[in-house]
Amino acid sequence: MGACILPSTLCGGISPICNSCGGVLGWDISNDEYLADKEFWDEWCCKECDPSGKILKAHLARKQSSGSFSAADLAKARRDVALVFEALCAKKVAKDGCSAQDAEDAGKEWLAEQLDVPLEACIFDLFPIQLCESTLNICKPFLG
Ligand SMILES: [Zn+2]
Repeated sequence: MGACILPSTLCGGISPICNSCGGVLGWDISNDEYLADKEFWDEWCCKECDPSGKILKAHLARKQSSGSFSAADLAKARRDVALVFEALCAKKVAKDGCSAQDAEDAGKEWLAEQLDVPLEACIFDLFPIQLCESTLNICKPFLG
């Protein structure tokens, strides 16, 4: 379905739309980011419509087969980390019936431990490429 510009959308950004229900992603991406990965965003589904993360996993598999991450892919890698983390949190909410905030807190604590970084440093937007790769490798088995 692609992406749209909402009144709440940051200047210069766009909001991806779920290909299934028409819901929008909870955060904006830049227009460049959209164009760089248009194929993925055009088939992207929200976590309610793709609870098993099937589309996300196919996207990650495609990426892996196309070679390793370069520095230019850092923004995309961080975004993938955020998407995977969100999917895992949604799974925890569905499984444990906890709140989204609790799932996120617990998830961050768990991830920080797995990555061996302080909890305060577990901020995806600041992750170097190696941490993004480690996070994806750690989280991917839990996606489905
Ligand atoms: Zn949806």
